Amino acid sequence: MEDLKLTKWQYRTSIREGLRILSLDCGPEAKQNTLSKQALEELNQVLDVNLTDHPRVMVIRSSKFESFCAGMDVDEIREIVNDPSNLKQLLNRAHEILMKIRQAPYPIIALIAGECLGGGLELAMACHYRFVIDHPKTRLGLPETQLGIIPGFGGTQILPRLVGMQNAIKVIVGGKKLSAKEAKQYGLADSLVDKWEALAIEELDFGTVILDFFLPVKRKVSFLERLPFGKKLVCSMARKATLKATKGVYPAPLLALEAVCASSKSLSRGLNEESDLFVKAANTPEAKNLIDLFFVRKDARKATPLEAKVYPLDVVGVIGAGVMGSTIAYAALTAHNKQVYLHDTYVPSIHKAVRFIEDELAREVKKGKMIKGVAEETRNRLTVGYGETFHSLLSRCDIVIEAIVEDMAEKHKLFTKLEELTRPGAILVSNTSSLLPSEIASVLLHPENFCAMHFFNPAHKMDLVEIAGIKQTNPEIIAKVLNLTRAMGKTPVVLNKECVGLLVNRVMTQYLMQSIFNVSYWPSRPNLWMLDQAFEMCGMMMGPFKTLDLIGFDTGAHVMKMMQAAYPKSLPDLKDFKIADDKSTLGTKTGKGFYIWKNGKPVKPNYEFAKRLDIMPKKKHSLHGEIVAIRETILSKMWLEAMDIYENGIASIDMIDLSLILGGGMMPNRRGVIGRAEH
Ligand code: NAD
Repeated sequence: MEDLKLTKWQYRTSIREGLRILSLDCGPEAKQNTLSKQALEELNQVLDVNLTDHPRVMVIRSSKFESFCAGMDVDEIREIVNDPSNLKQLLNRAHEILMKIRQAPYPIIALIAGECLGGGLELAMACHYRFVIDHPKTRLGLPETQLGIIPGFGGTQILPRLVGMQNAIKVIVGGKKLSAKEAKQYGLADSLVDKWEALAIEELDFGTVILDFFLPVKRKVSFLERLPFGKKLVCSMARKATLKATKGVYPAPLLALEAVCASSKSLSRGLNEESDLFVKAANTPEAKNLIDLFFVRKDARKATPLEAKVYPLDVVGVIGAGVMGSTIAYAALTAHNKQVYLHDTYVPSIHKAVRFIEDELAREVKKGKMIKGVAEETRNRLTVGYGETFHSLLSRCDIVIEAIVEDMAEKHKLFTKLEELTRPGAILVSNTSSLLPSEIASVLLHPENFCAMHFFNPAHKMDLVEIAGIKQTNPEIIAKVLNLTRAMGKTPVVLNKECVGLLVNRVMTQYLMQSIFNVSYWPSRPNLWMLDQAFEMCGMMMGPFKTLDLIGFDTGAHVMKMMQAAYPKSLPDLKDFKIADDKSTLGTKTGKGFYIWKNGKPVKPNYEFAKRLDIMPKKKHSLHGEIVAIRETILSKMWLEAMDIYENGIASIDMIDLSLILGGGMMPNRRGVIGRAEH
């Protein structure tokens, strides 16, 4: 042991006889541990030394409470994806080292706290037993397909052997991350440890069974998988479901599924197939694009326009408790220790918002993601106010986020009042979708404390926040708002200058308006439902008409009208299009729009609505020819809008594409609307 020179691990002998503890430790500057090539080689050294002087039991753990291991080092993943010539060699080496754990003549236990993902879980699965700390921060998963690749250190072969094929598919292909309790139910965790502090390993009772007899644990397999053709049936059903979910746009989930299905072969053949499929996935443009995006997002999260020390904004006001205000308030509340004041003039809006916040907190507790006491403490940090008079807490707010109706006169009245009632220097921001921020701020005596802070719907789930200062904005204000955005766990994109609709809404409005224009302009009335499909098949998260149903035709039409007035040259004029005027076809809000909606899902086209709007197709269309040509025309208009944003110096190409992906679900497979790698 003395000869070992380790930089990524700490290895020590416990005071408990025969117990040795190997802790992954990527240093204090790394927020999360990763399994780099070096960490693997050092693990190999430990395993080799142990062969001559082996312990009675070895525990592999992490020196960080919140990260067992986040997976393979993504910098190294990028390297191998850009130059895959040595890929197979690297994977074989990893298999070889992890096999040494499996074949060790003494039990090796993984003690898991925090995130245990990708290569981290593959390391834990190579161990003979997994003890998992039962804490809301514990998560076990294999999310490689999100980067366009598949698990490559044996995950697709070992997980099905531990939890059965059906459960493995949910984790590997579906990207499900398991809580500690779920890991136990699945049979992935052999034992739950209920104390976070139990990381004082000496206090843990590993059980005489493990220590003295080193018995294998019995694994669960579902009834279906035990039938003669059960596994084949599971694979073919999963293939259909995956094709439907990915619309054939993403190769990695299908390749991962193929690898999982190969787990019914011998381990060595299965591992070999996994490596071949990994190489195939790594060579796709989708993998290059998704990995590239990972770094662009990382840069956006790190970026700071100001080096100066930025004080946190601890008391957050949110005015307007509608769809946006209630979800923004929830996102601020769940950010560390923020006190939130939520105000609305309309009492039912406040009641609805409070019910929403309480329900969300209860859901988190039920899912095991939050402790009950923490949920109660979070709820206690919320103060509400309603009517014309504000609560005194408004005067203590560090920042006030305006999320009231999209009406310039209303916003002017509110901002004038807010400037009077807040403390000097308090930051005032607007969540406007389609008004020019500097025009909103024109009533302020101190516009230097103002900027746009644009969240997406629903704000507690959507990752992106666009931030844009006006000419007078003090850079320190932007830095503080950026910090708050990060504290809320979101990705900030700071625009270099303002414009109506900021960035995402400009391209999104092109998408929606050009789609309406095209299905209503051509005499044949191109099939709008097929146009939705055609867009989804090239990587748009949602077709334009489904998106309109989600936004609601009332809100959508209002925003489109304002955007058209601001950009009359680039946006089409829809004045010949019959705007729906009845209140029963507002999309998901009323269950009917361009589609009939049930339980939040579009179940069939709503022909009646299309007839009323005079956009019912007049001939049979197929998913080729005209529909694809129309899609490409619309995509080129979106590209032009995105390029106009770039050429006007509003944002870089990276930030434009990242925003369009995070805020509008626009083609992550192609790396956004402007895009890079071939597709
Ligand atoms: P909403 O209609 O759901 O909610 C607006 C709320 O503001 C209502 O509860 C209303 O009672 C309240 N309100 C109106 N005037 C007020 C005042 N003077 N003081 C206090 N409360 C007042 O609207 P929403 O969808 O939440 O949109 C709010 C803002 O966010 C708008 O500027 C909108 O453009 C923007 N936005 C909306 C979305 C979206 O998808 N809905 C996305 C991003 C930004």
